[in-house]
Amino acid sequence: MMSHAPPTQRPSYSLRKRKQPVQSAEESAVGRLISAAALCNNVLLFTGSGLSATSGMSTFSTKGGLYEKAQTRFGVSNGKQLFTFSFYEKHKADAQAFFADIYVEAKRAKPGTGHQAIAALAAAGKLQRHYTLNIDGLASAAGMSVWHHQVAPDGCTVEMHGSIRQLLCPVCGLVIPMNDFLSQQLRRRTTIPCTACSCPALRSRIMLYGDAEGEKITPDAVWERMEDDVQAADLILWVGISFEQSASTMYFRRVRQFLAQAGRLDTTQQALINLSDESLWNLLSACSNTGSLEVMEVLGTCDEVLKLVAAAVCKPAGTPTDLSNVPQPAVADSAEQPPAAKKTGKKEASKVLPGANVLTIATAE
Ligand SMILES: [Zn+2]
Repeated sequence: MMSHAPPTQRPSYSLRKRKQPVQSAEESAVGRLISAAALCNNVLLFTGSGLSATSGMSTFSTKGGLYEKAQTRFGVSNGKQLFTFSFYEKHKADAQAFFADIYVEAKRAKPGTGHQAIAALAAAGKLQRHYTLNIDGLASAAGMSVWHHQVAPDGCTVEMHGSIRQLLCPVCGLVIPMNDFLSQQLRRRTTIPCTACSCPALRSRIMLYGDAEGEKITPDAVWERMEDDVQAADLILWVGISFEQSASTMYFRRVRQFLAQAGRLDTTQQALINLSDESLWNLLSACSNTGSLEVMEVLGTCDEVLKLVAAAVCKPAGTPTDLSNVPQPAVADSAEQPPAAKKTGKKEASKVLPGANVLTIATAE
């Protein structure tokens, strides 16, 4: 087990009001994660938009992100509406034109160091599976095979929310790759008929909110896959996920449920890797009754931390773990309130659940 702060100790924010002593590489959160990772053979990853931050992809909810673009372009009160099935049903051509723009952006984007690190884990046979919430298709661009319950049951990456690089027939389920020609057609509001059935219009294979065709994007078979993966994993990492969306917290709860069923809640290590501490607060806010939640929080870029994790996991057996590249932990002296406390105005201590056992040390802010 990783070592943690005592359960009753408030994890981070009150401590941050004072200068923390400088810690050695071994003592830092990333150092502890790497030391733990070095002993692991089956790493299970969940990734979100933070993974693609250095690849040139727009994120959804941040300033200048996709929601804001959608809001400006379609005059909707909240850009998130563009990603709802009800909006899509009423304004199919407009929504598809917007999705075609996202495809163009994704195609220009390049897999980053984090994607390469995941591909290295897979190549070394140390990746249990990679579940991504991203629709940019960058894992597959980095050479990762994409899971499909029938066609590719051994695929490494499970695209939980589909891929902007594919079009789907909502009637017969045909999937075809998107290309420049098709995206131009869609941007001109021209529909693409299915070649396998009489359906007049293919759609982007991305999961929308309240998607009535979601089973064709992520089949229910994914839960069996996930259950087996969770129970086989010895390290579970949540990378670049803000936990602002209900789907991501649902996946987190599901994973806990699978671990509990297998009696592995106390033995499977979990860590959150994120640049911002907002992620942990969002997760704690969304998960009530988490009992003895043990999650290590590592603050740093996904690229940097994943590269170190992959190097530690993939090193030949018997090689000592090299911590010389671990970034020097930052001395936290900010008196800022945590983001969740800012929003709610509640005392930050109320956000820390009884028994929550969270280690927080800034590494690269
Ligand atoms: Zn069809």
